[in-house]
This record gives sequence, C-alpha cells and structure tokens, in this order.
Amino acid sequence: MEEPDFPYEFDAKRRKIAQIYSKQKLMIGLFQGVLLPVVFLSLVYFSSFSNRLETNISSILAGTPLSGYWMVAILYVIALMALVFLAGLPISFYSGFKMEHDYGLSNQSVPDWIKDQVKSLSISLLITTPLITGVFYLGRTYPERWWLFAGLILFAFMGIMSNIAHLVLMPLFFKTEILEDEELSARLKRMAEDNGVKGVEKVVKVHASDKTEKANAGFAGMGKSKRIYLFDTLLDKFHRKEVEGVVAHEMGHYANHDVLRYIVLEGLLIFPVFFFVDRIFTNWASFDNIFHLPLFLLILYGLYSFIDPITLAYSRHRERKADIFALQAIRDPRIMISAFKRLSDIDLAEIRPKRIVEVLFYSHPAPGKRLDMAKEWFKEPSS
Ligand SMILES: [Zn+2]
Repeated sequence: MEEPDFPYEFDAKRRKIAQIYSKQKLMIGLFQGVLLPVVFLSLVYFSSFSNRLETNISSILAGTPLSGYWMVAILYVIALMALVFLAGLPISFYSGFKMEHDYGLSNQSVPDWIKDQVKSLSISLLITTPLITGVFYLGRTYPERWWLFAGLILFAFMGIMSNIAHLVLMPLFFKTEILEDEELSARLKRMAEDNGVKGVEKVVKVHASDKTEKANAGFAGMGKSKRIYLFDTLLDKFHRKEVEGVVAHEMGHYANHDVLRYIVLEGLLIFPVFFFVDRIFTNWASFDNIFHLPLFLLILYGLYSFIDPITLAYSRHRERKADIFALQAIRDPRIMISAFKRLSDIDLAEIRPKRIVEVLFYSHPAPGKRLDMAKEWFKEPSS
C-alpha cells in the first residue's frame, strides 16, 4: 500500500470548513449537554410528573410480589433514564449522524447507528440503575454519612472500570483483530520497551472505518497484558512515522500513570461534591422517595459545572506531558507536527479556538498550542 505524503501540510479548504464545523459542534454540544438536560429534568421535577411517575409505578406493582420501595425505585430509574434518552434522541441523531454525514466524517448506516444507540442505552442503564438506587439506599440508611460511603463506592467503581472498560466496550462497538503488519507491530513494541513500557502483549487493529473517518489510538491494560489499539483509519491515512508519533503520545499517558491520576483526582473531588449535594438536597427533599431523583441530578449537575473546568485544565496539563513524552521518544518534532496537522484536518478541528472555549470545553490543548510546543523542540533539542 502506498504511504501518504510526509510531512503533511494544512489543506486551506479543510481549514475553512473546520471553522464552521467546530462552531456548529460547540453550539449543539451546549444545547445537548447543558440546556436540554437542565430544562428536561426541571420540567419533569417541578411539574410533579416525577411524583406521578413514582405513584403510578407503585400502584402497578401493588399487590404483586414485586411491590416495595426498591423495585419501584429500580423501575423509576429505568423509566427516567429512558425518557432522558428519548428526549435527547433527535439532537443526538442530528449531531452524531446527520451532521457527521454532511461533513463527510461518518460512514455509518442508519441501522448501525440505531444499534449503537441501543447498546449505549443498555450499558448506561446497567451501570446507572444500581449506582443511583445504591446512592438512595445509602441516603435512606445512613442519612449523616451516605456521601462518604457513596464516594468510596464510586471511587472503587471508577478504579475497576478503568481497567476493564476497554475489554468490554471495545469489542461491543467495534470489530477488532491482531494487527497483521508484523513489522509495524514489532517497531511499536520495541519503541515501548525502549521507553520503559514493558509487557506490550498485543497490537490490536480496530475496524472503525465503517463508522467514522476520524482516527484514533489508545493504550490499555496493565501488567503483562498491555495492548496498543490502532484505528484502521489511522493506519490507512497516516504515514508510518506519524502512527509511531501518535502511539508514542498514548504511551506517554501510560508511562506517566495518567489513568491513575485521573481516578485519584475524580475520586478526591467526589467527596466534597457529594457533601454539598447532601447539604442542598436534604434541605428541599429527601431520599425517602425516588421521585426526588431529578432534583438530586440537577444539584449534582450544577456542582459539576464548577468542577469541570478544573478537571479539564488538569487533563490539558497531562496531555501536554504526554506530548513531551512523545517528542522525547520520537526525537524528530517534524513527525509530531505532521501528525497534529493531519489529525486536525481529518477531524476538522479548530487550530486556535478562543481561550474561553478552550478553558470550558477542551480536554486537550488546542492543536495550535501542541504545534507551537513541537516547533519549540527544534530550538532546544534535548540530547
Ligand atoms: Zn492524550
């Protein structure tokens, strides 16, 4: 197969489209992620729809072996989550399917998109139902200390999920296979060894191109069963040197223990958040009725809007560290520069967004800053 040009230069036409695309994405993201959930949960709660939903479920179950608080709570959570999902479905379809097709970023068919939605909903119900009913159980049983116990459980849960998520979720959404390009596979494993990341067991190719044009890579697992994941889009569109650069960045996250750092940060933040939720929530409502859940979620949501900029700033800081790791491992900044440019053009990413947009929404430094850092590398080469 023919290799793409190297080094890659920005395509002026893609740059223009990227500006429009990223603005639209930002607007839709605000609507989908902020306005819609807040308005919907408020309507459900303050119109007393929530109250009636709980009453109806409990009268349907009355007299059957399934009656009682916990079964009502479980069914209520499932019903509420399903309603939130349905309320967001049109905008999900627009932003995740229609718009991505309009910009030539998606290759997914409608049935496949629906299948993915059903899978996502099922997974989120499987995870959130026990978590939410668990929190309400703790709130009822230990009114003084629930936030401490709930924080500890979530902390443990995040730790477990971070280790198994890739093994469960990746095959659920994508076809995968061992990378057949043995030369590349050996080179990536050698690069890992050379940079102190021992025990890469597999290099896995992810068939993402039947869904998306966007490229990605990842590093997961622990001990002797570490895996490198490569999207086929990355393999097809990027020069081999750039693939190594992208993998070196992912390796940086691993070598720098970033997953553990995020879990510790999120884990430490969850205690004060739950503490304040307790103070506000128990003032107005109680854990004795599950119909207060929308209020609980609204308060949680409100508090997290203050915390998100902190976790995003930390994430951007760790991404910079991973870039530095990659620059040191690759030793040729042109490779990183070329990879950033190509990635930005393929994903239609804005190179230099407004500072406020970066602060509020970006988990990675703006591409422009990543390019600047790589260019600085030319001036002060490390030996
Ligand atoms: Zn990264």
